[in-house]
Amino acid sequence: MSGAEPQHIPSELTAVFRDAFGREPSGVWSAPGRVNLIGEHTDYNRGLCLPMAIPRRTWVAVAPRRDRRMRILSRQVPGERTIELDGLLEGNRGGWAAYAVGVLWALEQAGREVRGLDVVVDGRVPLGSGLSSSAALECAVAVAAVDVLGLPGYEGDEGRRDLAAVCVRAENEVAGAPTGGMDQSASLLARADEALLLDFDGDHPPVHVPFDLASHGLALLVMNTRAEHSLDDGQYGNRREECVAAVAELGVGSLRDLRPRDLDEVVPRLSSDVLRRRVRHVVTETERVTQAVAALEADDFDALTALFDASHASMRDDFEISCVELDTAVETARAAGALAARMTGGGFGGSAIAIVRDELVGEVSRAVTAAFSRQGFRSPELFPVTADGPARRELQAP
Ligand code: ADP
Ligand code: MG
Repeated sequence: MSGAEPQHIPSELTAVFRDAFGREPSGVWSAPGRVNLIGEHTDYNRGLCLPMAIPRRTWVAVAPRRDRRMRILSRQVPGERTIELDGLLEGNRGGWAAYAVGVLWALEQAGREVRGLDVVVDGRVPLGSGLSSSAALECAVAVAAVDVLGLPGYEGDEGRRDLAAVCVRAENEVAGAPTGGMDQSASLLARADEALLLDFDGDHPPVHVPFDLASHGLALLVMNTRAEHSLDDGQYGNRREECVAAVAELGVGSLRDLRPRDLDEVVPRLSSDVLRRRVRHVVTETERVTQAVAALEADDFDALTALFDASHASMRDDFEISCVELDTAVETARAAGALAARMTGGGFGGSAIAIVRDELVGEVSRAVTAAFSRQGFRSPELFPVTADGPARRELQAP
């Protein structure tokens, strides 16, 4: 089971839209959540990361309006919101709806001619679980907006990269979450059965890396700890600021200018132990992404084991973004026979991933659930995933 989405979502969403707004939507669009295989907090440091889309998607039914207003409701949150596009940054940004209306705002900032939208959202990416429900919402609204407003398209990686940049601005400047570009790129550019190698040092096209664990009798298990997680509570931004401070102290262009072999010489120049550890994480993590791609290309799962272990330890000890639930999930999965495991996403809660032999998926899942129960944590949500396709139109109105 890959956790594929139920077939009935588009027709159900269309019915909800009809009930809410008394008219037909122009269509239904969806965009995936993601897991990052390796390369954490590297995107805003001009580094590398290796996400893939997961078959948990955010779905939107959308129709254009004549005015400059977004009316939106989500099946995950009570209440309908109405937000004016004019004066958005000074006025009401609509709480969670900022992720959606922010996309219209950012499209306009990018020189596109926009109008309002009526939107119904059904998010099947668990919210706030490190699986990027925020980018899935932005990217679903973005592809829908482009289609219904007749804007320049998102065919090919080029157009999709432009749209990813729009969604990043929406998240940073309207929703106020200072994330890098990994999540939006994954949701718009990922392809089925492939991971996406992203290089944030300049304007590099994405590299699509075959990722087919199934042919090796392996599964990728997502372990959503359901521990409190929020990227806009300051922790994420704090790490980002520390990286900016380290770059300033070192007088480099970005942390990408450093290689692991430079660390012994460079790190002592930093003013605090905290900054030394932050830099060590970012620099070694980008190196591990390159090595992980090589390991995948060579089907070298022993190498991947070592890289996942080192990555998790680096996030736990140097970048300090793990938590007891994530550590428990990773350690328990490894002890129960997972080939490799690490936390994924921004951290401070959220999800971990494990590469597990097909026949051990049940056993590893039971072991993690039991460990959480013993420690009195909330029950985790565990599900295997395959690499899914990008944001797309799902249904065109007749
Ligand atoms: P993640 O992206 O890892 O899920 P974030 O904290 O970045 O976590 O984003 C989660 C937030 O995105 C939610 O708190 C909510 O504001 C918004 N969001 C995402 N999906 C939906 C949805 N389906 N309905 C309403 N809000 C959503
Ligand atoms: Mg997010």
